[in-house]
Amino acid sequence: MKIELRNIKVREVVGDYKDDGENGVVGYGGKLDIRPAYQREFIYKPEQRDLVIRTVRKDFPLNTMYWAVTESGYELMDGQQRTISVCQYVNGDFAVDWDGQPRGFSNLTHEEQEQILEYELSIYVCEGTDKEKLDWFKTINIAGERLTDQELRNAIYTGPWLTDAKRWFSKTGAPAAHTGENLVKGTPIRQEILEKALEWIGGGNDLIAQYMADHQHDKDASELWQYYQEVIAWATRIFPNQDGARVKLMKGLDWGVFYNEHKSDKLNATKLEQQIVELIDDDDVESKRGIYEYLLTGDERTLSLRAFDDKTKQKKYQQQKGVCPVCKKKFEYNEMEADHIMPWSKGGKTVIDNCQMLCGQDNRMKSGK
Ligand SMILES: [Zn+2]
Repeated sequence: MKIELRNIKVREVVGDYKDDGENGVVGYGGKLDIRPAYQREFIYKPEQRDLVIRTVRKDFPLNTMYWAVTESGYELMDGQQRTISVCQYVNGDFAVDWDGQPRGFSNLTHEEQEQILEYELSIYVCEGTDKEKLDWFKTINIAGERLTDQELRNAIYTGPWLTDAKRWFSKTGAPAAHTGENLVKGTPIRQEILEKALEWIGGGNDLIAQYMADHQHDKDASELWQYYQEVIAWATRIFPNQDGARVKLMKGLDWGVFYNEHKSDKLNATKLEQQIVELIDDDDVESKRGIYEYLLTGDERTLSLRAFDDKTKQKKYQQQKGVCPVCKKKFEYNEMEADHIMPWSKGGKTVIDNCQMLCGQDNRMKSGK
């Protein structure tokens, strides 16, 4: 059984799409049998169908699908609903609501259409005898409990590298779970810690398979294991306070991503600890888990800073009699936006005395957007 991961554009999959009812459904230039014999009982659910289209439009990944190689091309083993949803949408068979408006494919701008057509589906193409294909199909669908993506990758990229990697990352009580107990979430036997480490070292979840393919025949997995230990050691060196309350904030953050980006930054653990204490104490910081990323990147969005509530905004609007203090023009309430007179970064708090209502244009000017 040969299995290969391919990225195939929607444009190619919808090529020559044809739904001939009972006689079958084809796509991919007529080469893909979308509804082979064992897939007849396709049940149509509009909510799921819409969700597929929304996912594609937002450029979020869909789960990997499976095609099997046949004499005349391919047949779809798994992913029928997703495939048909995309084909039907591009074909103009249904519309999906955006901002309360139903929008079919023909209602989209050229740019929006191109985004959908250029979207890449990730597909495992499997080649083998019918018996092997059937076994494979059973394996990926055992009693409805599907293998996770990482379990599946483990099924494909076997060899000495994987055996060694599992020793460090995938057994109950594996060293990686112990080393990362304050910082890394997940269960070793579900392959969650291995997956995380691979995602970090590979540079993204979609690059895990590539990393595994490149290292499949390595003698051992010490590169990965050493990298993982360095990530944890680095995080612990700059953020040494890992008591119970802190672990709640730190566990499960993307420490490997932080490490990749900031391992050479000059960081002072004592100063960082002082800032953490201040930020935890700051009522305007709503996402305390975002503190660590904020300290590394300076990106305030990770803190989910508190916004002015409606009561404060109404009150301020009345006080200003609807006049924007910058352009001196009068606006309706819903045309105005609340602004921190002194920004949070300069010590301004989210209190009424630090609030002003600006017209949309002046608010954007002020925030430099
Ligand atoms: Zn104004």
